[in-house]
Amino acid sequence: MEKFLPPAFFKNAQFILDLIFPVSCFGCGKEGDWLCPVCFGKITLADRTRETSPPLDKVLIACDYKNQVVKKLILNLKYNFIRDLAGPIGKLMSRKLSRYLSENNSAVLIPVPLHKKRLRWRGFNQAELLANEINRDSNIPVVGNALIRHRHALPQAKINDASARKENIRNSFAINPDFRVNLKNKTVILIDDICTTGATLAECARALKPLQPKQIWALVFANG
Ligand SMILES: [Zn+2]
Repeated sequence: MEKFLPPAFFKNAQFILDLIFPVSCFGCGKEGDWLCPVCFGKITLADRTRETSPPLDKVLIACDYKNQVVKKLILNLKYNFIRDLAGPIGKLMSRKLSRYLSENNSAVLIPVPLHKKRLRWRGFNQAELLANEINRDSNIPVVGNALIRHRHALPQAKINDASARKENIRNSFAINPDFRVNLKNKTVILIDDICTTGATLAECARALKPLQPKQIWALVFANG
């Protein structure tokens, strides 16, 4: 695991840090860009989906976490708060989605929400940033407030066992009482950065099921 600067420090000092440490490519180290066009072009889309059970109908995984550049992109977005990385990550996710989605007109993107404590800590929801980038690329609308995360479960990354993960996340999501968008007969695409056992995505799908979408897919950047 790489060492990360403490969040508060990093957020306040971003501007100064940019001056001290110029931006350089996570792939080749060239200055000027977090990911230069050459290294971006080298990232291949993963050729796989993940087995799921209803109500989650499909999970699309855009890239392979074993690719060191992919890993660096996601870790630096989430733990070094480099929001700009949502751009290239979202573009790759959008490309993956376009291979599977034949018609966009009935699809909506729903980012997996963070618990408010986690949101306060990070200052942004990475899944929401990614959904916005995918929207920019694909024009598929983002429906941001569909779900609320009402229990502060342990971060799934801290639990190794699959059944313990399932238990940790159970009943963590509910439909936002203020949510008014009609999802009936829509293709819902849940957006998240990483999928490990798929327990979080399955819980989101379970919560959304009563709104009667036509199908529920998930699209993640990488398989953690
Ligand atoms: Zn590069």
